[in-house]
Amino acid sequence: MPTFPFSEADPIQYPGPPPKSADVVIVGGGIIGVTTALFLTRGNISVTLVEKGRIAAEQSSRNWGWIRKQGRDADELPIVIEASRHWRQLAEECGEDIGLNQTGVTYLANSDREMAGYEEFMKVAAVHEIDTRLLDAQETAGLIKGMSRSFKGAMTTPSDMRAEPWVAVPALARLAARKGVKIVENCAARTLEISAGRVSGVWTEAGHIETSSVLLAGGAWSSLFLRRHGVSIPQLSVRSTAAATEPMPEIHAGAAAAEHIAFRRRQDGGYTLAPGGSHLLYLGPDAFRHAMKYLPALMANPFGSRYSPAAPAGYPDSWSTPRHWTPDSQSPFERMRVLNPAPERSGLRSIERNFKRLFPQLGSVRIKASWSGMIDAMPDVVPVVDRVQAISGLVVATGMSGHGFGIGPGIGRVVADMIQGNKIGHDLTRFRLSRFSDGSAIRLGPAL
Ligand SMILES: Cc1cc2nc3c(=O)[nH]c(=O)nc-3n(C[C@H](O)[C@H](O)[C@H](O)COP(=O)(O)OP(=O)(O)OC[C@H]3O[C@@H](n4cnc5c(N)ncnc54)[C@H](O)[C@@H]3O)c2cc1C
Repeated sequence: MPTFPFSEADPIQYPGPPPKSADVVIVGGGIIGVTTALFLTRGNISVTLVEKGRIAAEQSSRNWGWIRKQGRDADELPIVIEASRHWRQLAEECGEDIGLNQTGVTYLANSDREMAGYEEFMKVAAVHEIDTRLLDAQETAGLIKGMSRSFKGAMTTPSDMRAEPWVAVPALARLAARKGVKIVENCAARTLEISAGRVSGVWTEAGHIETSSVLLAGGAWSSLFLRRHGVSIPQLSVRSTAAATEPMPEIHAGAAAAEHIAFRRRQDGGYTLAPGGSHLLYLGPDAFRHAMKYLPALMANPFGSRYSPAAPAGYPDSWSTPRHWTPDSQSPFERMRVLNPAPERSGLRSIERNFKRLFPQLGSVRIKASWSGMIDAMPDVVPVVDRVQAISGLVVATGMSGHGFGIGPGIGRVVADMIQGNKIGHDLTRFRLSRFSDGSAIRLGPAL
């Protein structure tokens, strides 16, 4: 059993070689690629999923495990409502305990301004008839008992859920494999083969796969992959740190966030903790290229990001990362099998200090694991889920902007139908690729 956080030192569970051909090739074995593959198997389609490192080793195992409708962009809500149904069904179908529990999500407020923001979301919640409600100070103290301080109030959604990311996504991949998906780990997709403007294959490091249909679900690497084919998306990634405590007495069964601390009960009796506040953005060529598109996000939350002048070597937007390579030369994807940033020490100190301060009765906080993940973000904080008009047969689902785990199975179902030319059942206009080039103003979704 691989230990968390996953890395390239973990054994390969799905060895190659990849097949010579497939109806659909999926690039990327995170929650989006894996759940799309699962839904495609319902259509009697041969699916090959290639993953440069290990299944779920990047964002999809490193996230907090919140499955929330609360605080979502209005256009994502119908998809995440659908995703909640799929989570329940997939948890049953995979026959493994993925830690799915309906224990609610709560945002704690320090100020009237924050409460006013929550009231805005209540209007969206009402349209979609979800059970989100506002709590006053007393109700908040009653919901999460034992907090050392009082809050102005809170917003809470009891029907929101949690699951264990590093258990759930590998379990869903096993289900996909049992249903006939050919998964190949340690297998980077280097380039597409394009003939007369159409996808005709994928060149991987382990050879060619003939196909007319490709899904790019490459998380933080999608922009680099697309740029090689002349398609520009303003995707950047930011580093975010989290930690897991040893089992401890239960202070709250669900997930909650305050200004400086976020916590979520885990199935093993510990808590997954994260510092509130800002993310770290490494400046590289893409950060400068797309800076103007990120201005609205920067102005809305000037202290939301800290900056570092350069990413470590091999990161998607490092200064030294090659932007061009050929199908028969090593690509940046296989040079970095698993993007595994070190946790930020200051973030870990803040986690321990603020959790202890909020729940002093727990005594010292024993951390058993800590990690970082690179969150792939778009300037308007909502994903791209679309066909690429310039390359027929290519679909992109990326830029989940820090909230793609919960919505993952909903996006997976949508993308599987998009690939098959079926009715999708949701309006995807907001998630179109052309929004960054057709003169549309950036319309910010809820912050990361
Ligand atoms: C610290 C943290 C906390 C978060 N908390 C939450 C949360 O509580 N709730 C929530 O909903 N979301 C959360 N998220 C966001 C969520 O984890 C992501 O949005 C989601 O996992 C993205 O899934 P993905 O499949 O798009 O990308 P990823 O999980 O990043 O998967 C992409 C995969 O593609 C592979 N790949 C890339 N390029 C290639 C190539 N050329 N060839 C082969 N393989 C390739 C990569 O190796 C990677 O495994 C959090 C993220 C982080 C980092």
